[in-house]
This record gives sequence, C-alpha cells and structure tokens, in this order.
Amino acid sequence: MVAIAGLMASMSAMPPVVDGSGRAVVPASWALDAAVSPPSSSSLPLSGVRIAIDPGHQLGNHNFPREINKPVPAGGFSKPCNTTGTSTNGGYPEATLNFRIARLVEARLEALGAQVYLTRTRNSESLWGPCVNVRGEFGAKVHARLMVSLHGDGAVSSGRGFHVIAPKARDPWTTDIARPSRRLARALRAGFDARGIPRSSYVGGGTALSIRSDLGTLNMSDVPVAMVEVGNMRNASDAHRMTTRTGRIRYARAVVRGIRLYLAR
Ligand SMILES: [Zn+2]
Repeated sequence: MVAIAGLMASMSAMPPVVDGSGRAVVPASWALDAAVSPPSSSSLPLSGVRIAIDPGHQLGNHNFPREINKPVPAGGFSKPCNTTGTSTNGGYPEATLNFRIARLVEARLEALGAQVYLTRTRNSESLWGPCVNVRGEFGAKVHARLMVSLHGDGAVSSGRGFHVIAPKARDPWTTDIARPSRRLARALRAGFDARGIPRSSYVGGGTALSIRSDLGTLNMSDVPVAMVEVGNMRNASDAHRMTTRTGRIRYARAVVRGIRLYLAR
C-alpha cells in the first residue's frame, strides 16, 4: 500500500527510540570491492548481475510516527519518510509479507548467480525506515542493474489481483529511467501472468500497469525501477495466497521470472 501517507502512524503511541537509523544497512560482504564470485558460478544465468530488492515499509514504522512522518525529498516535492503499510483483515502485516517475499526472491536470484542487495535486511517492531528517498537512491548506490520494490495493496475488499507501477517521465528526475522502467514493469507483469496470479480488477483497466509520478521510491531512482503490488491484502482470496508459504513462493517465482525476462537471461 503506497497511497496513504503516514495516516496510521499518528494513531500509535511512540515508544523510546531503540534503534532504526532509517538507513539501509549494507553488510561488509556486500562491499563493492568484495572478492569476485568463485569461477564455478560464472556460468550461472545471472552471474555478475547486481539486483536491488526493496521490501516496502518496515514492521516497526507505526512505533515511530515522528520519524516516518518527517518530510523527505521525493522527486521535486516532499513526502513523509515512509508509511506504515497495510495488513490483511486478519492482521498479517504488509511489511512482513514484503520482507518474506524479498527473502525468497533473494535466495532464488543468488542461486542463479546474481548479487542481491536489500534496502532493509531486518523486519522488526523496533526499527523504522529507510525513508522513500533512501530506498529510491539505493539501486544506484549499490550499482544495481535494476530495482524491484515489493508491496501489498490495501484497497476495497472486493478488488483483487496484482498491478505493477512504473515512474512517469519527469524532467530531470526520471527522464533517464522511465522507458526501461516501463519495460521492467511489463516484464514483471509477464512473470505474474506466467504464474497464474490474477491481474488487478481495480487498477489499470485490465493491463495491471500503472504509471505514477507521486512515489518517492520510483522518482528518486537512478536505475530502472518498478513497484509491484502483489495483490490486495484486504481481499480474502489474495490474503490467502499472501499468508501461506506456497503463495509467497509463487509471488517470488513471478518476480524472478519477470527480472529474468527483463534481463533476457
Ligand atoms: Zn506498501
């Protein structure tokens, strides 16, 4: 869910700040001058490819309303640092959904030889962020070929299915990445189609594609980027897929297939 900014956050009491710099943590093993992959992996389909994955939101965002409501650059305008995200009607949080899919995507991509970088490597009630500008800038920071941002939507319960969002071309922010980002969005859609995941019944008029100019994660990117709303968390059918491991594996395979289609590898 990306449309509602910081609404739920203000409803929560704020505990002491324990942790959470709002910055993505990059382990030493990810350093850009790290040793090259062993020779045996050089023949893998994605060897040598750096890929950024953004598991949207952080589980603890609702505990840090002041931090996540702080305005940050979002591409020619300001937006709140981050939002709380949504949840299923049963209370399964979007942050957890996004994180678990991201870990599955990471494992599969690494098995294919890619180097994978996550904007957040923990899912914790005691953490917040990173902010949308940091997420957006992350792909270029880790020299990734592309970034996929993972989300679950929070729409009216009758709506179901996935949609993919790409940034609108806006000079000077996204003119350089708008075209390849749209290609990435179409490739991800093809990946989801191939896995039999239904297209959105409420966004995109059957195309499952949406071009938006209001999302900092997309506007601030300097590498091709697309955001996937894997489904509507308020819809019972989508929620069932999201809350089962087999369902999340299906989402992850769809994302990986989309990335491979985009890279033609
Ligand atoms: Zn979201």
